[in-house]
Formats: sequence, C-alpha cells, structure tokens
Amino acid sequence: MARSVSILGATGSIGRSTLDLIEREGDAFEMIALTARQDVEGLATAARRTRARHAVIGDDRLYPALKEALSGTETQVAAGPDAICEAAAMGADWTMAAIVGTAGLKPVMSALKQGRTIALANKESLVLAGSLMTQAAHKAGATLLPVDSEHNAVFQCFPHDDPSRVRRIILTASGGPFRTLSRDEMARVTPAQAVKHPNWSMGAKISVDSATLMNKGLELIEAHHLFPVGNEKLSVLVHPQSVVHSLVEYVDGSMLAQLGPADMRTPIAHTLAWPQRMKTPCEPLDLAAISRLDFEEADLDRFPALALALQALAAGGSRPGVLNAANEEAVAAFLEGRIGFLDIASIVDKVLSRYEARSPESIDEALMLDAETRRVATLALARQAA
Ligand code: NAD
Ligand code: MG
Repeated sequence: MARSVSILGATGSIGRSTLDLIEREGDAFEMIALTARQDVEGLATAARRTRARHAVIGDDRLYPALKEALSGTETQVAAGPDAICEAAAMGADWTMAAIVGTAGLKPVMSALKQGRTIALANKESLVLAGSLMTQAAHKAGATLLPVDSEHNAVFQCFPHDDPSRVRRIILTASGGPFRTLSRDEMARVTPAQAVKHPNWSMGAKISVDSATLMNKGLELIEAHHLFPVGNEKLSVLVHPQSVVHSLVEYVDGSMLAQLGPADMRTPIAHTLAWPQRMKTPCEPLDLAAISRLDFEEADLDRFPALALALQALAAGGSRPGVLNAANEEAVAAFLEGRIGFLDIASIVDKVLSRYEARSPESIDEALMLDAETRRVATLALARQAA
C-alpha cells in the first residue's frame, strides 16, 4: 500500500530534493499536500507531477493564479497561512517540514498533533519553541526525525536507550565560504558571495547563516532539543570538506561518525525510509579521491554569531527565540543590501541584550515574542542603515 506523504515548503531546496526522491519511487508514495509561499509555478508543477490531493499557496493573493495553473486536475487548491496549517493536519503518514524560518512553526505543530512521522528540516521552529514542540510530539505519539545533516548524522550514531553513555556530541561545520577571511575582508563581502556555499546548495537564508556560522549556533540549540544530553556535552568542530556530518563520542573513548555525500537527499532519504533504508541517486563517497579529512576549532572572534548562539543556549528561556528572530530580520536586510555582513551579528547582539530570559509557555506566546523581537530588530536595522 502506498505511504501517504506531505511536503510543507515543497518549492524550496529541501522541498525539491524531497520531491525528487519521492518521484523516483513511482507509486510507493501518495501525495496528500504540497505547500509554498509564492512560487505558483513550482507548486503547480509539483502538484501535477505527483497528483497531489491538495496544493496550498501561503500568499492568498495568489489563489486565482494557482487555481488557474491547476485547472483540469483533481488537486484541491487553497491559500493563506491557515490553509497551510490545515494541509499539515491532513494526517499524512510522513510529513516533510521544510518551510524556512519561524513561519514554519504553526504548520509543524499542526502536523505533530496528528501523531505521525515528521521529518524536520525547519530548525528555526525548534529554536523558537523546541520544548513546546517536543512536548506536543510526545503527547501525540508523533515521531520527530531530524533532516538537518548534522542531526541526522547524530541520530544515526546516538544511543537512544542510554544517553548517559555519551561523553560528547560533535556537530561538524564546513566553516562556510568565509572560513579563512579576516574581519576586514568580511566587512566587504556581498550577498552573492555569501550565498555561494563551497559544499552545499541551499536556500538563501541558511546559506547566509552558514557564512556567519549562526547556522551552527542554531544547530546547537536544535541539538539541545533533539538530544538532551546536557549542553556541556554539545560542541562544534570545523571540518571544511563536509564529509563527516557529525560525531558522537562515548564514555569509553569510541567515536561514531556518519559520513556521506554533501547532498541533502541522503539525510532526507534516511527519514523517508526510516527505520529501513532506500536507494538514492547521490554520488557515492570516494574516500580515496577525497584522500584527507581536516578538522579545526571554530574561531568565535571572527564568527561572533556562533558565540551569541552559545550564550543564548546557555541562558535559555526566551533567548534562543530572540536570537533567531533578530537573525532572520538581519539576514533579510543583508540579502536586500541594507546592511553589511558584519552588521548581522552586531544587530543580533544589540537585540539580544534587551531581553530577559523567560521561556514562552505557549505557541502563541512564542510567536508574540518572535513578532516583538522583529519590531525591535527592524528599529535597530533602520538605525544601522541610516
Ligand atoms: P528555501 O528558501 O529554499 O525554501 C523555503 C520553502 O519554504 C519554500 O517552499 C517557500 O515557499 C516556503 N516558505 C518560505 N516562507 C514561507 C512562509 N512565510 N509561509 C509558507 N511557506 C513559506 O529554504 P531551504 O534551504 O529549503 O530550507 C528550508 C528549511 O530547512 C530551513 O529551515 C533550513 O534551515 C533547513 N535546512 C535546509 C538545508 C538545505 O540544504 N537547504 C539543510 C539543513 C536544514
Ligand atoms: Mg545543517
């Protein structure tokens, strides 16, 4: 029998990689719902190809265009943020959560409440409301599988029966496109340079996060929620080749690592087939050709965004959510050419220092904190740009 699946954020980098894997499997999967924010053509094409039952566009002004693009098909069309949550709640056996940013939080909560399997790429939702999400997953009996390559690697090496055997979880970081640049050189980098990652092809926001190393900071917070071994056991190691996707060190000195191609289809396939395995079209690793693997410490002076994320993780409460929202706003401003690359971390720092550490107790509270932080960040950005 076909397994039913949905993809939230179907037109993005992760969404398209997921579609690619699903389409290769013929009738093994039945597409329930596909969603996107504004890419009508990408969404309609994917819905036609997979014969999706529902296609939802987030921007409701685009409803007529989507309706038109899917005329003559059996796909039901809807629009608006609430319709995305409704699509997420249709009870697919497996849902890919690949909306970028905290816009993904409500949809992923709707999906979690169905008690099925959620493959989570949308790290920002976990950073803002991780405890609420993991509680909701537990209550509904949902399975949360990490898609982020590092967390997927850890998941593959982690002893879920007894985490006390773990001495350290080591998240690897490529170091991004500016790994060897000085601060002076970084002051002059352009958005086009920042989104050009040396190893991975990804959406614009996460590419900038990889360049500032904020991505690794968000991933530490993500790991804190997914693998609760104690923050002191979470660490980062720069590994420029992106071959070792992360490691788990045990109390006896053994280290287990997951290696794989720098292709998100491998971790996505792991979550899609779990607990089985499925074939992917990914190029197999040729270790002899790679010939060496390098590792180095992360430089917190040149990459202050990582230091800020470590502080937010240690402080807990509202800090991770504030860090995340301020960062989303700052990255958007950088991509639009309103601020420089180094301003991203300094804006986050300014906004972060204005907040008390108090945990949001509900999703609404978390989203209010997110919205308020964005207002504060917008003011700080306007001053910075002036
Ligand atoms: P992307 O920008 O390529 O795609 C984002 C998707 O979300 C698109 O389908 C877009 O339409 C949708 N979307 C954006 N804003 C929305 C909104 N307000 N409402 C509804 N839908 C919206 O991003 P991506 O690179 O695919 O990343 C998606 C998520 O996965 C991010 O959280 C990212 O951190 C995480 N992730 C990505 C990669 C990667 O290789 N791309 C790796 C690890 C984790
Ligand atoms: Mg990652």
